Amino acid sequence: MLIAANWKMYKGRRETREFLEHFEPPAGVDVVICPSFTSLAAAVETGRTIYAQNVHWENQGAYTGEVSPEMLVELGVAGSIVGHSERRQYFGETDETTAKRAEAALAAGLGVIACVGETEEQREAGEMEDVLRRQVGVLPRHDRLVIAYEPVWAIGTGKNATPEMCHHAHSFIKSLTDVQVLYGGSVKPDNAAALLSQSSVDGALVGGASLDVDSFTAICRAAIPS
Ligand code: PEP
Repeated sequence: MLIAANWKMYKGRRETREFLEHFEPPAGVDVVICPSFTSLAAAVETGRTIYAQNVHWENQGAYTGEVSPEMLVELGVAGSIVGHSERRQYFGETDETTAKRAEAALAAGLGVIACVGETEEQREAGEMEDVLRRQVGVLPRHDRLVIAYEPVWAIGTGKNATPEMCHHAHSFIKSLTDVQVLYGGSVKPDNAAALLSQSSVDGALVGGASLDVDSFTAICRAAIPS
């Protein structure tokens, strides 16, 4: 099981250090922390597995505001999220740019968590499978690539997919490609066990509930097979 914390634009260096000093990952679970760019170095110093929240597809160049795979590798960062729905929604990320970021990160030796998922409108229109087929179809096949199924309507909203909805989407993704699939979307200590107990769920990508040590620890514990 892999449990990843997406801290979005929260926690600078001080709060990152504080969290990681108090957080003891439970045995038997792989934990990845994804802080903001400015907190990456402080996080790496703690010896934990650290991923960035985004990565560019070139190793250098005139790309103001971007960070390259080689820069992350040099810092000791182990991987990156790509294609998060907030990147797609607010920053013009597309399936194509997501695929380019994933390919470059993998080529540099990084791990990748690639996010896919339908909007509420797409789900209601019965388009979930088409959307997932398109988003998954462009991604490279690689043993360091993990997919996070994050239905957009469940991110930061408190609405989470039921374990059955989650199982259906994960099974569909696994029918397209042989890959580990994490679930993301309002995972909390009280729903984590039910979601993580689905046979098609290989872990979770956690946003809001990963910002608090106790709640994130509880989610990590829920991932330990009983
Ligand atoms: C996320 O940001 O990837 C996420 C799943 O957020 P939340 O857990 O807050 O819904």
